[in-house]
Amino acid sequence: MQVAPIPTLDDETNQIRLMTADIVANDIIPNEHFLRQRDKQSLAHWGRLMGIVKEKGLWAPHLPEEYGGMGIGFLKLAYMNEILAWSPYSNPIFGILAPNSGNQKILVKYGTAEQKKKWLEPLVAGTMQSCFAMTEPDNAGSDPRSIQTRAVRDGDQWVINGHKWFASNAKHADIAIVMCRTEDESNADSKGRMTQIIVPTETPGFQYIRSVPVWGQERGHHGEIVLDNVRVPLENALGKHGSGHQAAQDRLGAGRVYHCMNCIGQMWRAFDMMVKRAMQREVHGGLLAEKQFIQGFIADSYMDIQASRLMTIRCAELMESGFDARTDISAIKVFVPNAMHRVVDRAIQVHGALGVSAETPLEGMYRGARTLRLADGPDEVHRILIAKNVLKRYASGDSWDFGL
Ligand SMILES: Cc1cc2nc3c(=O)[nH]c(=O)nc-3n(C[C@H](O)[C@H](O)[C@H](O)COP(=O)(O)OP(=O)(O)OC[C@H]3O[C@@H](n4cnc5c(N)ncnc54)[C@H](O)[C@@H]3O)c2cc1C
Repeated sequence: MQVAPIPTLDDETNQIRLMTADIVANDIIPNEHFLRQRDKQSLAHWGRLMGIVKEKGLWAPHLPEEYGGMGIGFLKLAYMNEILAWSPYSNPIFGILAPNSGNQKILVKYGTAEQKKKWLEPLVAGTMQSCFAMTEPDNAGSDPRSIQTRAVRDGDQWVINGHKWFASNAKHADIAIVMCRTEDESNADSKGRMTQIIVPTETPGFQYIRSVPVWGQERGHHGEIVLDNVRVPLENALGKHGSGHQAAQDRLGAGRVYHCMNCIGQMWRAFDMMVKRAMQREVHGGLLAEKQFIQGFIADSYMDIQASRLMTIRCAELMESGFDARTDISAIKVFVPNAMHRVVDRAIQVHGALGVSAETPLEGMYRGARTLRLADGPDEVHRILIAKNVLKRYASGDSWDFGL
């Protein structure tokens, strides 16, 4: 892993990139086989590496300083993500553990002082676990307005009934942030409103059914949950009544840029592995690197990565400058995971059987790229949004702002 300062970036961003790369390259990647074991020796490595991150002031880059984070803002974090992504172990070692990290950010933005004390502080301290429960088995997750989980007011309580699944980390969660339909039947104007409500998982009626195995693994604990007359105080609602959809968009908008920078970092690693393997593996009387098929893989992958990177950084810069970047967010959300799918696929092919084994991070990257094409808004939904936004602009008499 070789990371040099980028001349167009400010000193602080370059400094963060270089310090992050130093830890990822010299402390995390060489220890990946230990970190994977999760035995006593492995836990000692985890603890030691977390200590190094904290000592260097790089802990929890997604959080403001008042909650023990770096307080570096959106763009610097995006650049940091590209480097963290070289190893699947970096994010938790740097204090970013999904879905807790997303829930922490939503609590920072929407939580009351009391909610922050009760749930954000223990989540940051690591003494509490959480999940986010939006998707439902009987309704389309790609159309969140179809959600049927309902929260009805009864005195000073919400009464929640519904069925969720794929709530990552649900098995270990102390609280679930549950997306609920909270329209007041007597008021037609409020129909279709969504509110996120914090539900402690020990509340009577909160039933953890099972972990839905994904790619043959139980590990993510993507939980199926039934909420059967679950009662929580009205003050457990996060943000204003009806702000749930906006809060979900806030979570996903910036999150999509981070996901894409994360994909790009993984693509760089897959590319690096592919080129090195091609330069040392002999087949049919010569190195793989001398075969034109393999040279094509290298060239196509280089173009996929650079195109993804430029698109994502441009989108992040538009967002940072306050432009409406919704079309570009959809564009990167489609293009980048598909590019990653192609790059990792080529890297696997060059590695042969080793590529699909658990001896390298490639097979995990492949599953991640494929999953990302349907999670956080499937490809088709984002393509529709891009076309809709462009056509709307032309229909109003404008053309696109070419060059922006
Ligand atoms: C590993 C993993 C972790 C997850 N973690 C969480 C979590 O923590 N919390 C949570 O709430 N959810 C989570 N999810 C769920 C995820 O967000 C949903 O799966 C996703 O939003 C898609 O919803 P769905 O599965 O209901 O697919 P559906 O909405 O049923 O869509 C199925 C397919 O239909 C197609 N489609 C959709 N709309 C259109 C259209 N307009 N035109 C043409 N085709 C279309 C797309 O190809 C789409 O993939 C997770 C999923 C996975 C795989």
